[in-house]
Parts: sequence; C-alpha cells; structure tokens
Amino acid sequence: MPGSRTKTEIIWTIPYWLKQSLGHLDPVKIYQLPLEKLALQVEKLPKKPRYTNAAPYMIQDITCLFVEKYCGTAELIWKNRRSSEVRKDFLSIYGGGPGIADMAVLLIEKGFGVRFSDLDHSRRNFKPDAHTMRILFRLGVAAAEGEQEAVLAGRSLNPSYPGEIDAALWLIGRSYCMAGDPHCNSCPLDEVYAYFGESAQIKRWMPHS
Ligand code: SF4
Repeated sequence: MPGSRTKTEIIWTIPYWLKQSLGHLDPVKIYQLPLEKLALQVEKLPKKPRYTNAAPYMIQDITCLFVEKYCGTAELIWKNRRSSEVRKDFLSIYGGGPGIADMAVLLIEKGFGVRFSDLDHSRRNFKPDAHTMRILFRLGVAAAEGEQEAVLAGRSLNPSYPGEIDAALWLIGRSYCMAGDPHCNSCPLDEVYAYFGESAQIKRWMPHS
C-alpha cells in the first residue's frame, strides 16, 4: 500500500527472519552471496522490510563495509575515528540518509560508551516521531504536538545533549503513553509529576477531563 510503513516491531525482527531463512547471520557469508540470491531470500521472508527492493542492496553494502573496510571487526567502525567519518560510512550505504547516519552515531555512543570528540552534543537533536511528540506535549514541555515543538522541548529538557533522551522518551511513549490509552499508573514518569507538580509546569494527561 503506498505510504504504508512497516512497524518498528517488525523491522527489528527482520535479522531474525533472515537468519531463519539463510541458516546463519554471518556477514562474511552474506557478503559472498550474489545479489540475486540475496534478493530471493529477502523476497521469501515472512516479515518484509519497508523497502523490499532496496533491502538486498542495503544488506550487501553493510556486509561489504564490514568485511572490506572493518576487516570483520565491528569495533573498528568507531575505534580511533571521528564521528564525521563514521557518519560518512553510514551515508555511503544504499538507502542510508542523514537521519539514519545520525542515529547510528548516537547508538554507538549510547551502546558502547563511546564519546566522539568532534561531536558538539548540544547540537544533536533527536528525531521526533509520534511517540516523542505526544509524550513531550502531554508532559507540558512542548507547546504543541509537532516536530518543531518537540525539538525545542528536547533542547530545554537536556540542553547538553538533546538526542540522548530520544530513546527513553520513545520507549515510554510506546509502552505507557499510548495515544488513546495511557497507562499512567505504571508509567515511570508518574513520579516526575508527583515530584515537580504544577511548579515545573508539568501537567498530567487526564483521559476524561
Ligand atoms: S504519566 Fe501518563 S500522560 Fe504522563 S507520560 Fe506517563 S503515560 Fe503519559
């Protein structure tokens, strides 16, 4: 369907399905697969990536980088490198864009405790999506449920590194602060409301008010 989007939950399962289909997830073996065979495997997956035709090219580019440039050692993606170099590598992958490249840099920092010295963290905004926009508005930090407002809210919440709060907000947004049925009683932010109350202009979303 034009404009339809693959759900995040499905996207993250695709490596699993690929492994089921190939019998392994060995980047060296995948790199050696002819593109047509890889395309057939992707086509057969029970859960498909958003852009099925582009996926084999993307997978091949990723394995090519891993094998040829990083010599099969994932750590070499970031070790002794500048974030601009890492970003450039991710941009070189078929279908990769600035949003994905920025997110990759962010995930490397978060996941592996790396701090890129050439990065001005105060300028690293997060990428607003439905979850983060909704939660920041409900928290009363964003003036409206829009992208610009969410970016501004992120900057005010964590000015030294706005992008750092992205994943936490996203997770809370999709796990507790759902659009129609927020689970306020079990939400970790419930305590934040109790602590700051009205003085911090944080408001609680009231479903039936
Ligand atoms: S307490 Fe409720 S309204 Fe506030 S962030 Fe959590 S789920 Fe959303």
